[in-house]
Amino acid sequence: MNTHYELPLEDAGYSFGFLDEYAKKEVRRCILKAIAIPGYQTPYASREMPMGRGFGTGGLQLTLSLIGADDTLKVIDQGSDDSVNAVNLRQFVQLTCPGVAVTEKTQEATLIQSRHRIPEKALTEQQILVLQVPYPDALVVVEPSEARRKVMHGEADYSRLLVKLYEDVVRFDEITLSHRYPTRINGHYVIDPSPIPRWDVPRLHQSPALVLLGAGREKKIYAVPPYTVAEPLVFDDIAFRVEDFRDTHGRRIACRCCGSTVSFLDELIDDAGKVTHQCSDSAYCEEQQETISARKQA
Ligand SMILES: [Zn+2]
Repeated sequence: MNTHYELPLEDAGYSFGFLDEYAKKEVRRCILKAIAIPGYQTPYASREMPMGRGFGTGGLQLTLSLIGADDTLKVIDQGSDDSVNAVNLRQFVQLTCPGVAVTEKTQEATLIQSRHRIPEKALTEQQILVLQVPYPDALVVVEPSEARRKVMHGEADYSRLLVKLYEDVVRFDEITLSHRYPTRINGHYVIDPSPIPRWDVPRLHQSPALVLLGAGREKKIYAVPPYTVAEPLVFDDIAFRVEDFRDTHGRRIACRCCGSTVSFLDELIDDAGKVTHQCSDSAYCEEQQETISARKQA
């Protein structure tokens, strides 16, 4: 598969990275503050971008402020490099950052912008992961006032969030949150880790790669710096668990394309109502398939 895109676009006349240098400098300063106070929602002057808020403008501003001509960018949406949102964002970066290489291979990328997933392949110290965030504040479900939420964050008072999780346990015998699982960073601030599935939450813990989260509409940047403690909020007697993808016989379901039994799966239902499963991370799935076919040829 061709992993490098050619765009038939002339020089569009934008400054490198679309944003002006002052805007980029401000975003970078906020990134440094976010790294210095892990999990703290740093306010920043989110710029108008030539796309609707809610389409990844927060992540895009982080990416454009960080990217240099020698970077290699990967953009994914729900694990796929080919979805409309991912393609649009990637083309926009290519248009405004001439010389930047793009890739679908996780290991080749220096900068990865993602919505709803962390790549299946383990990230390294040489990589930065940018996550697009719709709702940056985990406390928003229990407290409508931002001023009060700020005090609660400052005092690390997450008791109401724990009550909310406890209500889940009482009603359903387990915590039913599938996405946006509240996660405590470095023992203090609880973040909304963006709509990644529970499966991805443990990978924030002691991640070698810097993880940056950007909310454009809400004008917030926060970070999980490399090798930082990231713990999902739990109770002593109810452990956090990730999706286990088992069939009715208790067997782990395999991906229908590559046969992987260790990846996060998407459920697909065809017209006849038949349910199948496939890796959510399309680059990972393709690589598994390539490995299998290479092994068969050998
Ligand atoms: Zn697969």
